[in-house]
Amino acid sequence: MECLIGKSTEQLEQLAASMQQPALRGRQLARWMYRRGVSSFDEMTDLPKSLRATLTNSFAVRAATVVGVTRSDDEVTKFALRFPGLGYAECVRMPSRGRTAICVSTQIGCPVGCAFCASGQSGFHGNLTAGHIVEQVLTALDSSDDDDIAQASVNVVYMGMGEPFLNYEHTVRSIRLLRTEMGIGARSITVSTIGLPKRIRQFAEDEPQVNLAISLHAPTDKLRRQLIPRRCCPVRELLAAVRDYIALTNRRVSFEYVLIAGLNDGRSDARRVGELLRDMLCHVNVIPYNATGTDFRAPMRQRCAAFCELLRQEGVNATLRASRGRGAEAACGQLRARMEAEDRAESAEDA
Ligand code: SF4
Repeated sequence: MECLIGKSTEQLEQLAASMQQPALRGRQLARWMYRRGVSSFDEMTDLPKSLRATLTNSFAVRAATVVGVTRSDDEVTKFALRFPGLGYAECVRMPSRGRTAICVSTQIGCPVGCAFCASGQSGFHGNLTAGHIVEQVLTALDSSDDDDIAQASVNVVYMGMGEPFLNYEHTVRSIRLLRTEMGIGARSITVSTIGLPKRIRQFAEDEPQVNLAISLHAPTDKLRRQLIPRRCCPVRELLAAVRDYIALTNRRVSFEYVLIAGLNDGRSDARRVGELLRDMLCHVNVIPYNATGTDFRAPMRQRCAAFCELLRQEGVNATLRASRGRGAEAACGQLRARMEAEDRAESAEDA
């Protein structure tokens, strides 16, 4: 059954026209789906009953079924969504200082294969559409108290499963839907990428007001390739693209640096990062590794703080971030991996 999430107001007006309905019906549909966050046509009480029945017989509002929800002690909630014919995706809701941050996935699995990431280890299974990405935000907001989603204080971060710039078209289209249909400001949206130079430059043209975060994780090509084995470009090329991005947008870029004990957490690593970034309009988020069942470990808290301090001494703005949501399997790909394992166990029992 065709799903309506992902269609713009204009497309919904066209759909209404194709059903011999006035354009107003399309606008009403858009408001219910994107502003009020309803997931069934029956809840759209200002549509005629007969139209609601026709829509219910021919269309669905959303595509996915929520098949798993986990909550941590620090109020991080993680949702596993099953998209028919595609598989499981994850999104995470994190309350933070009066706002709600929602982390979305852009792909099922991930082709990049980062050595420290559960999604990367489980292979690539397909791209999500713009509608699927927006649906994750709506799902995470389902329990929101606000009548109009645009009134909710929401940040959307593209840091879940997948590499957004390897699904570029749908990533950008989903951003447009968040902005125009849901009323979420461009500066409340952050896209995190391992850094594909061509796409970084294109993004500066397409969405200059959206925040950009680059996963750096290592200051040398050798170490970076070890951590990001596929699609990892030389650091020099990456930073050249980031400089072009900054020149075009005049926006500060964030660098993400996941700190792994004994691997990229040394004083010399911090100094090299300092040399690379000190003259750049940027900020480094130092994130202690959130264990995902690999052999990697986070350094001791003191060592993380020392790394961060060294960056500051090198003249780079840096903040040590807390790893949140440990009880919610919040590291990328963990909940999905569990849902798939449960599916496999059920199939084995059925066989
Ligand atoms: S960390 Fe991000 S880019 Fe790397 S494998 Fe995981 S999802 Fe993909």
